[in-house]
Amino acid sequence: MQRTYIGDLSNHIDQEVKVQGWLQILRDQKKMQFLILRDRTGLVQVAHYRPANEELANQISTLGTESALTIIGKVVKNDVVKLGGLEIQLQELKIENTAETPMPYDPFDDENVPSVDFRMDWRYLDLRRPQNLLIFEVQTTLEHALREFWLQNDFMEIHSPKIMGSPSESGAELFQLEYFDRKAYLAQSPQFYKQMGMAAGFERVFEVGPVFRADPSFTSRHMTEFTGLDMEMSWVDSHEDVMVFTERWLQYAYQRVQEKHGEQIKAAYGFDLQVPAIPFPRISMADAVTALKEAGYELPPEKKGDLDPGGERALAEYIKKKYSNDFFFLIDWPIQVRPFYHMRHPDNETLTRSFDLIAGGLEIATGAQREHRYEVLKKQALEKGLGLENIQFYLDFFRFGCPPHGGFGMGLSRLLMVLLQLQNIRETVYLFRGPNRLNP
Ligand code: ATP
Repeated sequence: MQRTYIGDLSNHIDQEVKVQGWLQILRDQKKMQFLILRDRTGLVQVAHYRPANEELANQISTLGTESALTIIGKVVKNDVVKLGGLEIQLQELKIENTAETPMPYDPFDDENVPSVDFRMDWRYLDLRRPQNLLIFEVQTTLEHALREFWLQNDFMEIHSPKIMGSPSESGAELFQLEYFDRKAYLAQSPQFYKQMGMAAGFERVFEVGPVFRADPSFTSRHMTEFTGLDMEMSWVDSHEDVMVFTERWLQYAYQRVQEKHGEQIKAAYGFDLQVPAIPFPRISMADAVTALKEAGYELPPEKKGDLDPGGERALAEYIKKKYSNDFFFLIDWPIQVRPFYHMRHPDNETLTRSFDLIAGGLEIATGAQREHRYEVLKKQALEKGLGLENIQFYLDFFRFGCPPHGGFGMGLSRLLMVLLQLQNIRETVYLFRGPNRLNP
């Protein structure tokens, strides 16, 4: 017999069906037993009249909640039942896997939600909560839409290696590993390799893949491994072309998520998902610093030319007031706080043609036009104190005809945090990796 999803039961009234799921609640009464069964699509009440089968009744009585069950029964209309006015009259029960009691915690007890760290230990139970399931349904739709937009715009998908022979951009935040008789490193970004696609004539590439950062910080927005959304496009005139693409791409994906999950998001998280208006405001770093000063926010002195998270939030408030947009591009960053491969402004050598995208007060992407002129690039690398021998393979990309190009890197989980208004990145990732967490 084929399985029927609980969400589809209204199309099977008066029919015999097979449903499969988890026992969320058991109401074991004198005459009747009610099992509330859950699958990915919803909840249904299953009723069993005790005297009809005492042996089965006794079996049901022993079941712990969250046991995995297969149930065969007849779907009947019953207006008294709150769950969709439907009920399944139990005929057969197969216990696929019993849940031990007590459970480490009850994922359905909204009054007593343990700390996020405790829930991470039991992530598979935590993920059974419908709000959490929704995060990954949204992620699936989001990623699908982002890819769709890339493909509609002639991008090619690449998969670059995550094991690297030399510490590329800078030595910081690199995981080192034994690689036979020498050292190797886990890629902290696909930056160099996606740029190689430009030298290879791919013209437009994207990659969705793992990124590793040996960052010992314990913030609510950093992980040691995350999924990066990266792209690179050729023949751009400046970073403006990259920003125009980025905002259209995001707007498209938000639209798709809103269409498919807007109501679920409202029900689970209590807000209406707004599709952002484009163009996103652009504000230069210089203007941002002035605006922050005027608003009474002093950047910490050690952050010369850079923004701290408090600054990002304060600036987001200012932009929201002025432009009513949760998204904005912070542009024209000083060279001191940008990597050597960011192109500089032709009329101001101290500034880069780069941007950060801030959404809901959080940095979610960094992008730029890249320097594609070999001699200039070499000079900028030397100025940053980089040893050329380690990056010569990269510099070589620019020796035999490489078009002007630009792109960005974005963290998938940061985007989800913003989209679903979640405060901690640990909630938005399937399995979190941080300095203290390697399991499960
Ligand atoms: P931050 O200043 O927040 O540490 P970053 O400037 O180091 O970020 P980039 O190197 O520019 O970040 O990486 C591009 C994007 O990748 C970021 O905008 C962010 O969305 C994401 N990202 C970077 N580091 C992390 C991390 N440790 N965990 C999760 N996402 C990250």
